[in-house]
Amino acid sequence: MPTFSRSAYTRAINYREQQLKENIQPRIKKYNDYTYQKLAEEEGTIRGKMKDMSSEIKTIESNIKDVKNILSKSSSLLSEANARIGKEEQESRNSIVTSGTLPYPEDPRKTIFNGRNIICFILSGFTAAAFSQDIAEGIGFILFMPAFFFLFKVIAYWVLKNDDAQVNREYLTKIYEYNNSIRKKFTPSQDYLKFKKVAEDMNHSIAKNEIYKKKYYTKLSSVEFEILVLKKILLELKRFKKRASERERTSKINAFEMKNRSGAQNIKEKLLKPIRGKSNWSCPYCTNLSDVNLAEADHIHPVNKGGLTTLQNMVLICKKCNSKKTNLLLRIFCKKQSYDYNGVCERLEKLGKDV
Ligand SMILES: [Zn+2]
Repeated sequence: MPTFSRSAYTRAINYREQQLKENIQPRIKKYNDYTYQKLAEEEGTIRGKMKDMSSEIKTIESNIKDVKNILSKSSSLLSEANARIGKEEQESRNSIVTSGTLPYPEDPRKTIFNGRNIICFILSGFTAAAFSQDIAEGIGFILFMPAFFFLFKVIAYWVLKNDDAQVNREYLTKIYEYNNSIRKKFTPSQDYLKFKKVAEDMNHSIAKNEIYKKKYYTKLSSVEFEILVLKKILLELKRFKKRASERERTSKINAFEMKNRSGAQNIKEKLLKPIRGKSNWSCPYCTNLSDVNLAEADHIHPVNKGGLTTLQNMVLICKKCNSKKTNLLLRIFCKKQSYDYNGVCERLEKLGKDV
């Protein structure tokens, strides 16, 4: 069933992804407010942590290797000790059995010529003889005899069921007693006691090290999971860093523009001072006479082309020209408006501007 196993596999993967997500989300929330610098520091810290964890994994893996070595040695020592113990017990048992001082209890159910079988046999003989009188002499007897024997055995089984159980219990008790007396007659050698102790120690060691092994594996998988989480967090950090750098760039530009704008206001004040009293002020671009109060300050070389907010680069022009010039270079503006570029330049130079 490949579809089933594939979907089970996908489910397992999805579950793991879900687990990762749940682990990561609360840990990266705080990065929203971090500066680029702080994010970079965090990145360094996480990389350091991952390095530490990698070496921790190596330590755990070597611990696991050690524990596995101990376990394999312990279990081979245990099986060796058990073999020695078993061998000595068997030898002692054999010598007691062969000496004949302690006969093995006889199984009362196993003998073929027991009372019940004999009675069943005789009964089935009589019954078969009675049945086969009418039919062809010997053949009937031979055919019926086993069938009746079997029938009587079944009847006997049902009638004597409780008695049989009793006999069985008594037999098992005898065997138990027999084994007990054999054990009592067993005199352990020094070697036997030594191996008995070894077996006990090894059992203890195996139990202890199995717990260690389990602990190490649990630790290993948790560290490996954490590394996976940190890897994902590093990826997220890249995203946060990019966002922070964009945010910081924008805010720098905003600050710069803000400074520029307030600077432009200052310069406009300075430009207005000498012409404030005058009634007929003419725009240096279109040469039309305009209201001084409606004059606007223009960057001759546009700000977005690198023009500075200085007295040399700023000039008062009429509102109409300002709305058309926007970010255009002076030459292009003149061309578009069909103004004499050279004339405009001359007028600007007279006003002390850099053209
Ligand atoms: Zn104008």
